[in-house]
Amino acid sequence: MYSLGILDGKIYLDKQWIKGNLYIKEGRVAAISEACLEAEEEYDAAGRFVLPGFIDPHVHFALNTGKYTSADDFHSGSVSAAFGGVTTFIDFLDPVKSAEELEQAFKKRRLLSRDSVIDYGFHATLSQPEEEPRKIIEKIESLGIPSVKFFTTYASSNRNTPDEYLQAMMGVSAETSTLLLIHAENDGIIREDKRIRICEHERARPAISEISEVIKLAEMTKYNNALVYIVHVSCGTTVKRLAEGYGDILNKNLFVESCPHYFTFNAAVLEEENGCLYTMTPPLRSEQERKLLIQNIENIAAIGTDHCPFNKNEKEAEFTADIPMGIGGIEHSFSIMYSLFGDRIIDKFTKNVAVLHGLFPRKGSLLPGSDADVVVFDPKEEWKVRGHSSNCDYDVYEGLTLKGKVYTTISRGHFVIKDGKFIGGSGEYLNRRQDKKGTIGN
Ligand SMILES: [Zn+2]
Repeated sequence: MYSLGILDGKIYLDKQWIKGNLYIKEGRVAAISEACLEAEEEYDAAGRFVLPGFIDPHVHFALNTGKYTSADDFHSGSVSAAFGGVTTFIDFLDPVKSAEELEQAFKKRRLLSRDSVIDYGFHATLSQPEEEPRKIIEKIESLGIPSVKFFTTYASSNRNTPDEYLQAMMGVSAETSTLLLIHAENDGIIREDKRIRICEHERARPAISEISEVIKLAEMTKYNNALVYIVHVSCGTTVKRLAEGYGDILNKNLFVESCPHYFTFNAAVLEEENGCLYTMTPPLRSEQERKLLIQNIENIAAIGTDHCPFNKNEKEAEFTADIPMGIGGIEHSFSIMYSLFGDRIIDKFTKNVAVLHGLFPRKGSLLPGSDADVVVFDPKEEWKVRGHSSNCDYDVYEGLTLKGKVYTTISRGHFVIKDGKFIGGSGEYLNRRQDKKGTIGN
């Protein structure tokens, strides 16, 4: 007997659609069938989409900047995520310099993350590392982490990693299949003084700072045969150049992540009175870059939100140096991107993310045997964003009209959100490993 049957759905199974019922047993997908089988509980999907739970590979819950802490902790952030159909997220360990510090950073984050209502993992983060790459990789692997993030920028706050180290790290990545996540901005071009006004934010970190850094990293990736994942790409030109010049490595060795805000807004909002509420790095780009990003969606492997909201009173400052960078967005992420792209966005929230981040086939798929992380989504419903369940006191997406709505979110066979109401949940830490069986489907 199955524990739960999700009836009359349009089930997404590796780019195919199957009309029928999905059955769950012991927290896993157990069967997909046109026939009605016996289940303890039944849920009527009423012809709506039945999708694998979404995976957000890039969030910052309870991020401490020294002066401020991001508005969502692991509880509020994960509840907000679940309302948006997210069943797994990957957060970041605090930046460290050595393997020993990594262990402490991991323990600290595990303690904070206990309140998550959905499953989660972590990426390691290094800043000005002082230990050889191999030792770092051995340590993160022992913690169930197959990915590590670097910044090429923020030398002013000692968070950057020099090219010499990245070059050595790429050599190790080629041997161990460790995914190197890189925040790519050319630090030599960026202006980071104390008196940059909000309206100057984009000009201080211009498009060319991202484009030129990513092209250099693409050459290094190719030279080393490394695995590199560029986080939060903001410019359409960046993706276009990669597609034109690095088609041989794009989506094989080199992967691009982008965020819903770069598809939704342009830098003109920074000129407005409440421009401070739209500040993140890299910044929002010109309308031309936004449009080009939309045109190049097929070359983007994964969508992450970089969810990192701060309350209004923390964002309201005259100069960017005084503003904690980041915005929220996990709750409406899928609907925003679905409104723009339709069905072709699904893999960028599910299978691609799972394959890239060592979670496939446990997550990102509804194949029998995988975790029963399921979203019931109505692709036709038009609705306006009204309120949210994040702890943040504003939402840049408020008032936006979207097409497609999440109704129900199930994590390992249990309802977290049922018909728009929060039920409860208890997330597990995911020991991730690189799975070389999967290939991403672009
Ligand atoms: Zn981030």
